[in-house]
Amino acid sequence: MKKIVVSKFGGTSMGDAQCMKRSAQVSLSQNASLVVVSATSGTTNLLIALGHKALSYEWPQLESLIADIRKRHLVIADELKLETKGHTALTNLFQELESIVKGVFYLKDLSLKALDTLQSLGERMSSVLFTQAMANELASQNRRAILYDAREILKTDDLFGKAKPNQEWINQHAPDFFSAVLKTNDVGVAQGFIGSTVDGHTTTLGRGGSDFSAAILAEGINADILEIWTDVTGILTTDPRLVKEAKVINEISFKEASELATFGAKVLHPATLLPAIRKNIPVFVGSSFDANKGGTWVRKDVELQPLIRAMALRRKQVLVTLSTPEMLQTHGFLFHVFTIFNDHKVSVDAITTSEISVSMTLDETTLQNKDLFKKLEAIAEVHIEDGLSLVSLIGNNIIHTSGLAKKIFESIPEINVRMICLGASKHNFCFLVKDTQAEEALKRLHKTFIA
Ligand code: ASP
Ligand code: MG
Repeated sequence: MKKIVVSKFGGTSMGDAQCMKRSAQVSLSQNASLVVVSATSGTTNLLIALGHKALSYEWPQLESLIADIRKRHLVIADELKLETKGHTALTNLFQELESIVKGVFYLKDLSLKALDTLQSLGERMSSVLFTQAMANELASQNRRAILYDAREILKTDDLFGKAKPNQEWINQHAPDFFSAVLKTNDVGVAQGFIGSTVDGHTTTLGRGGSDFSAAILAEGINADILEIWTDVTGILTTDPRLVKEAKVINEISFKEASELATFGAKVLHPATLLPAIRKNIPVFVGSSFDANKGGTWVRKDVELQPLIRAMALRRKQVLVTLSTPEMLQTHGFLFHVFTIFNDHKVSVDAITTSEISVSMTLDETTLQNKDLFKKLEAIAEVHIEDGLSLVSLIGNNIIHTSGLAKKIFESIPEINVRMICLGASKHNFCFLVKDTQAEEALKRLHKTFIA
């Protein structure tokens, strides 16, 4: 039986006609059955900005912004020699774009729902172009490129802007839905990032969600391999913009990679690995610009289990401390606290408690949630410290290795550590420092533990 490969290409791999051609060739060299694509580089940002501008700009200004978006796609269409069917599809999408912007402009109302439909146009346009790029490569082999509308299969709830997939439904229907490419040598192309509710309203999975889409669909069709093609040669030991010695990791376990994605590494959308873990699908991360240079395999079992494999920073953190004498010798306080967070769908990253207080880190954007803080203030004294970064070290056997904490803190003697989180995971040691000192801490730790 043929191995089923799903490959996903991010925005930069879809940057122009040349990039699309290269990406199509990469996926063919990997024998991919299904290719999941992002919007062309920068387009999602332009669409979001356009939505917001439609609330206040004059129509002629908006028209020229729409024209810019149209143009960047038409340039690619020309170079790829987009056929009539593709041109018609693209023209319809341009019309839809104009209609939505007009709607927002006249109503002066940009709901999350409208914003999702607006953003979906990025992937819907790029996928039309990429299907042509793929068809061009396949032409001589008598194989076809088939464009799918991901919204027909990637069913989600109606939390617009960050919709949750109905994986059970997808698993049930995906093998049939994609049967034309699963049973033949043809190649399917589908949009990342987008889905739709049961009633057919377009949703998105949240920024960077194309990786997640690819994994969801890979689970749906029981893929053997999921490939995430981006513009870096795999997952690095840390952010190379901060530490130039950062190097590619050849192999990393699902557990370590999940921690790394959650704690700030930008390569994978944090939810991406969940479907892969559920179905034990190995994930390869590589660069579409240099496909032969290798990359990173993320899998269940890995050969080497270094103590520290990678490290990451999560910036713009705030430390919220709740204190109340009522916590003394009683129960249920944390329950109340987390009920409040749950009601507001806010996730807490690191947490420590003492007898009468609990401290936790939150993303700085949470401070805008006035209602959440009002509720917290009703049950405890609330103290907020901002301008912090969470430094996390990811590896193996972290809780069973004596002397690790000593080694960590000895390498950053003059950096004040505000909070430490250790013990919950074998794979993660994290602590909070002032944002201004975070880069220095990362550099030193990388030197001590990796290179
Ligand atoms: N185009 C979307 C974004 O820029 C999704 C993705 O690229 O993963 O967030
Ligand atoms: Mg991305």
